[in-house]
Amino acid sequence: MAAMGERNIPLIDQRTAGLPIPAAAPAPGQELTDTRGRPLHDLRISVTDRCNFRCTYCMPKEVFGADYPYLPHASLLTFEEITRLARLFIAHGVRKIRLTGGEPLLRKNVEGLIEQLAALRTPDGEPLDITLTTNGSLLARKARALAAAGLRRVTVSLDSLDDAVFQRMNDVGFPVREVLAGIEAAQAAGLAPIKVNMVVKRGTNAHEIVPMARHFRGSGMALRFIEYMDVGATNGWRMDEVLPSAEVLRRLQAEFALVPLAHSAPGETAERWGHAGADGRHDPALGEIGLISSVTRPFCGDCNRARLSTEGRLYLCLFASQGYDLRALLRGGASDEAIGHAIGAIWGHRADRYSELRASGRLDPHSGERRIEMSYIGG
Ligand code: SAM
Ligand code: SF4
Ligand code: SF4
Repeated sequence: MAAMGERNIPLIDQRTAGLPIPAAAPAPGQELTDTRGRPLHDLRISVTDRCNFRCTYCMPKEVFGADYPYLPHASLLTFEEITRLARLFIAHGVRKIRLTGGEPLLRKNVEGLIEQLAALRTPDGEPLDITLTTNGSLLARKARALAAAGLRRVTVSLDSLDDAVFQRMNDVGFPVREVLAGIEAAQAAGLAPIKVNMVVKRGTNAHEIVPMARHFRGSGMALRFIEYMDVGATNGWRMDEVLPSAEVLRRLQAEFALVPLAHSAPGETAERWGHAGADGRHDPALGEIGLISSVTRPFCGDCNRARLSTEGRLYLCLFASQGYDLRALLRGGASDEAIGHAIGAIWGHRADRYSELRASGRLDPHSGERRIEMSYIGG
């Protein structure tokens, strides 16, 4: 277990280290895969390391207090820098972009960035699948502008329908009804299909699994239950607070008729279950739920996600300790060709599979290098 004293270690040192970029890259035209044969498909871009919530599993108050050293504005990638990198990632196979954070809607004029990203095209002339993960607090105000800028859909995080539980988890007293109003606004703006993420912590909100499933059944929104993960180094993660997805499913099956559904896309993180109708078959009108079992059933085998931090570091795994400094290339005057080559070389050398190693007992989550925080790299 992580000692509580560790929680006060400043994280800045880690963020300033950058890994050396490998020189060799796959030959141009060759499909880019990493050392385990995984293609590069999703790019998650963190647009801010700040948040207006203090979820205990992500940004605990004791660490992320008033004196926490957030990144200064000048070190953030500009929208132009992000868009330039996104274009170079597309050339290497990226087809989906997810904006995240911190709370991405706190980044000033994030609609302007979405507009620039929405104008990008794949080599076949197709637009990208652009989405965003948000805590929903600013969604009621921003949903229309986001949709107008070209955002396709959103994922909203909501851990409980019970105010007392939710407020204990977000730790800033934010009410459930305002997140629900944000979700409604997103639906009205056409940001669909909406996904709702619920992080499940044993002893905290596990009793909300069934009420949440009941609320979102038949709503057109897919509710996904996420196992509480050992991301970062500050949330005091303990295995005994993880409620395995198998147990979540057992509780759901006691209430609802569910049938397994196929994966919707390669690299999809959620195991999908559909609500069945009277004939025992999946009824699309009743919708589906998802189980994201990063701890008990890892999905590293087809992990096709790269993560770009707020200050332009490229991370190859959610549990990485260090990233590659692409901002140094951007601001050092490197050409598109040189940066594209670097991205190819970095992905080509990728071997990360943290969750698999943890699950097989070959890695101790409480030892080794200090990992980056979820709020810095995005979910
Ligand atoms: N602030 C936005 C939000 O909460 O949706 C976007 C960033 S947040 C880091 C992205 C996702 O990661 C959220 O759905 C959040 O619930 C999830 N998350 C954060 N810490 C987690 C943890 N320790 N285990 C599992 N999921 C976590
Ligand atoms: Fe903020 Fe999202 Fe982390 Fe909660 S999970 S503290 S809303 S970044
Ligand atoms: Fe991908 Fe790393 Fe998660 Fe495995 S642990 S699925 S490699 S992000």
